[in-house]
Amino acid sequence: MLNIALFGPPGSGKGTQSKKLLEKYHLVYISTGDILREQIAQQTALGLQAKQLIDKGHLVPDELVVKLLEEKMDNNPKADGFLFDGFPRTFEQAGILEDLLSKRNMSLSGMISLEVPEKELTERLLQRAKTQGRSDDTKEVIEARFKEYASKTMPVIDFYKGLNKYHPINGVGTLDEIFARIQQVIDNL
Ligand code: ADP
Repeated sequence: MLNIALFGPPGSGKGTQSKKLLEKYHLVYISTGDILREQIAQQTALGLQAKQLIDKGHLVPDELVVKLLEEKMDNNPKADGFLFDGFPRTFEQAGILEDLLSKRNMSLSGMISLEVPEKELTERLLQRAKTQGRSDDTKEVIEARFKEYASKTMPVIDFYKGLNKYHPINGVGTLDEIFARIQQVIDNL
């Protein structure tokens, strides 16, 4: 069983590489960003609460995200494995994920971190804003997301370093080059 967490700052290509991973490996995809946007689109109470924060570039509280994540895991009891995109995003979430998996007799095979310089990330996000119109892809909100990333999300790296599960990947290159690097890591897990 393969359980992967795809990690990286906003704009690092997690969503794009996830699609390629799902084509190749039989995993259930769990993107907390997508789940939250679904909740917003359906105008649930949870979605409304999340939207206030997302539109400011802030993270959503752990309890809220964890609840949605657990639901998604329990809806897929026969999964061969999971691909987590955008989770864990805080040190606490990383610990929670270990517990959620071990309660189900699973464990995380590895955390793959897409590493991209901030200047390139900003360019990619502003480019994406032109075509996808995500409400959090404005210059101001992008800056706030980077700040959240640096203060709250970067510590996740240390969590996985401690478990020998941290696998950094150069996230600059063509989509296929980057995918090949990811595959190489997975094949060695
Ligand atoms: P990106 O990686 O480009 O910022 P995502 O789609 O992964 O985009 O996330 C969008 C927003 O959803 C984040 O800025 C954050 O507010 C919220 N979010 C997503 N995942 C989490 C999480 N695990 N914990 C807290 N907030 C989250």
